[in-house]
Amino acid sequence: MSTRSLTRIIPSIPVSDGAGVKLRRSLGQNQWLRLDPFLMLDEFASDNPDDYIAGFPPHPHRGFETVTYMLEGDFQHQDHLGHTGHLRGGGAQWMTAGRGIIHSEMPLQQSSRLHGFQFWINLPAREKMKPASYRDIQPDEIPEQQIPGGSVRIIAGAFDGGDGQAVPGPIQGLSTAPLFLDFRLDAGARVRQRVTAGHAAFLYPYAGSLSIVTDEMPRPLAARQAGVLSDGEQVEFEAGPDGCGVLLLSAQPLGEPVVQYGPFVMNTREEIEQAIDDYRAGTLA
Ligand code: FE
Repeated sequence: MSTRSLTRIIPSIPVSDGAGVKLRRSLGQNQWLRLDPFLMLDEFASDNPDDYIAGFPPHPHRGFETVTYMLEGDFQHQDHLGHTGHLRGGGAQWMTAGRGIIHSEMPLQQSSRLHGFQFWINLPAREKMKPASYRDIQPDEIPEQQIPGGSVRIIAGAFDGGDGQAVPGPIQGLSTAPLFLDFRLDAGARVRQRVTAGHAAFLYPYAGSLSIVTDEMPRPLAARQAGVLSDGEQVEFEAGPDGCGVLLLSAQPLGEPVVQYGPFVMNTREEIEQAIDDYRAGTLA
């Protein structure tokens, strides 16, 4: 069984997006910091409403999927078709923008802590123009499995320690076969997880730190850094002295050209121009 090692660390940097929401961006800071099919990973974490209250007023997307996962706080999602979704702490939203969506994402709270993530995952060329769709996943729809020294929540794919017992999450059957797990581990707890060979994978600790136990010279991966993994059939990591909370993300690379203009991600420049024209003409979605 080949085991993945840590090949690259992408520290997050502070950015501002939407109407002035303060976030940390690791993947997606620029076009060289993507990990096919992952285009971007943002973390928003603040006790200060000034950092998030402006939210994300109506804006378009075309050509990919946005996944929002909340640890704490409440967001409301609304789109031009009248769909409304309430994102609660512990819940997620998997949105396939497809040919187009115009939506807003606004905090439903005036105070207290907001902590969550949004990542963008690309769609294959043949699916970029399919109709938009959503999956609003309530906190109790996400299985939480107790493991030695902690727990894991399973959003997409399956928790699989290689012992023949896989625990699937609610998101299955997408063409990029995403794996999305959220581990909470005590100090020194070890995890082994199967990851499909050939798929891109990275870890993103949001609290504490961890190290890849199988690395010859394990180096700590600190909170708010994306740790890109080499290829292999599994990953094995250990929580640092303060324990850790960590996201594990993996998916099948597309190997297709990526042309991005803000919230539009297509394969060619012509398709981007078409998206801009469609948005201006009111025919994006
Ligand atoms: Fe959006």
